[in-house]
Amino acid sequence: MFSITNPFNKTFLSNYSYFSENQINKSLMNSEKASAVWKGIPIGERLKFIENLIFALTKQQHLLAEKCSLEMGKPIMQSEAEVKKCIALCEYYIKNSQNFLSGYEIDTDAGESFITFEPLGVILGVMPWNFPYWQVFRFAIPAIIAGNTVVVKHASNVAGCGILLEELFTEAGFPEGIYQNLLISGEQVEDVINNPIVKAVSLTGSEKAGAAVASAAAKQIKKAVLELGGSNAFIVCEDADLDDAVSVAVNARMQNTGQSCIAAKRFLVHASVFDVFVEGFKKGVEALKTGDPMDKATEIGPMAREDLAIDIEKQVNDSVAMGAKLVIGGKRKDAFYDPTILIGVTTDMPVFKEEVFGPVAAVMAFDTFEQAVELSNKTNFGLGVTVFTKDIEGIKKKVHLFQEGAVFINAMVKSDPALPFGGVKRSGFGRELAENGLKEFVNVKTVYIK
Ligand code: NAP
Repeated sequence: MFSITNPFNKTFLSNYSYFSENQINKSLMNSEKASAVWKGIPIGERLKFIENLIFALTKQQHLLAEKCSLEMGKPIMQSEAEVKKCIALCEYYIKNSQNFLSGYEIDTDAGESFITFEPLGVILGVMPWNFPYWQVFRFAIPAIIAGNTVVVKHASNVAGCGILLEELFTEAGFPEGIYQNLLISGEQVEDVINNPIVKAVSLTGSEKAGAAVASAAAKQIKKAVLELGGSNAFIVCEDADLDDAVSVAVNARMQNTGQSCIAAKRFLVHASVFDVFVEGFKKGVEALKTGDPMDKATEIGPMAREDLAIDIEKQVNDSVAMGAKLVIGGKRKDAFYDPTILIGVTTDMPVFKEEVFGPVAAVMAFDTFEQAVELSNKTNFGLGVTVFTKDIEGIKKKVHLFQEGAVFINAMVKSDPALPFGGVKRSGFGRELAENGLKEFVNVKTVYIK
């Protein structure tokens, strides 16, 4: 048994018990049974269930948003926006999936040769708490549309969101077993992966959990997709539109109280515009309203758990002890960590070297673009980078220099249903979203007719 408390005011929310081995086996058998039927249903029919899901999401959007804000402290307007983004994802796949999944002929020495895309079967999703609906949707919807069934192990601190998600699929009329919530602990995941019913796994979360899940999958020769941490750089060139760069920087770092894998975490600013940028950035951060996540005006809530705020406090304090200077912030009260900007940052400090999963910006100056690229790449992660410059043609020629899954010019790195999403290096492997995401959990079957 474990309990969930509201990170804003520490009030008790609910008690939950993890599934027993019997319950897990029952869920997996349900999933396998459903899979045998679901894969034979034409894709057009499967998409009708996704349409129903949009109705259910629309109907339950406030309930969903509220649960998310209560369990992990996301400001309510951002929780509402997250639910809307799930709707947009469904709409995107309703529009495009048939086209993406239709096989095609390939010209060879055969009389006829072609490929078809077939589902793999039961797929396990292991999901994080920071975007408790969006992360699940971007894994589960394409997997289900491709004809798979899914079992989802959600993060324990958003167990209530996990249960609401399963209810949503039931309300949308999905046949039993297509989408199931597996209320299990991290330690129980390996046994689920070992179960022959499970054919592949997708994890979004930390490097530690990613390594554990990928190792377990590798031992069973099962496919894994990993969406792990990030430490994106945000590069402001000498010729950047500074007003624009500043306002995007505030959002890119502070959205979701800084708890985003693709948040800009390391700000690399040309020396000639450094002071002006930092001044503007400070003003923008100062203007953010911190408070009760249920208040519609709140822009910064508590961190999802107090221990996460304590981790951030340590990263900042250790960096300050090594010589970093606080421009603003640097204080913690319970689960709240003040939006913080640090300058005087060096590459050996925790705020540069490690992923900082909270509202803390590390700002450094550079003199040449080559230096900026070197600093940007000087991380174990590779999810994405933002570059602010007016020289669009010039930067297009330099995109290849970045060791990243995505390069965004004059915009913050964001996920979009139409764009492949994923990382390189220790940010993981595989892609979600777009056509690539839809094809992660399919058997690309070759047919050759002499
Ligand atoms: P986490 O601690 O790794 O948890 C993620 C999920 O993995 C949870 O469901 C967790 O379950 C489970 N888990 C933990 N240890 C496990 C183990 N040994 N074996 C199997 N499963 C295990 O990560 P988090 O704190 O929720 O999320 C923050 C991290 O996720 C950050 O590093 C962030 O950058 C990353 N993230 C990446 C992306 C992306 O798209 N690349 C998106 C969002 C977040 P319990 O909750 O029960 O422990």
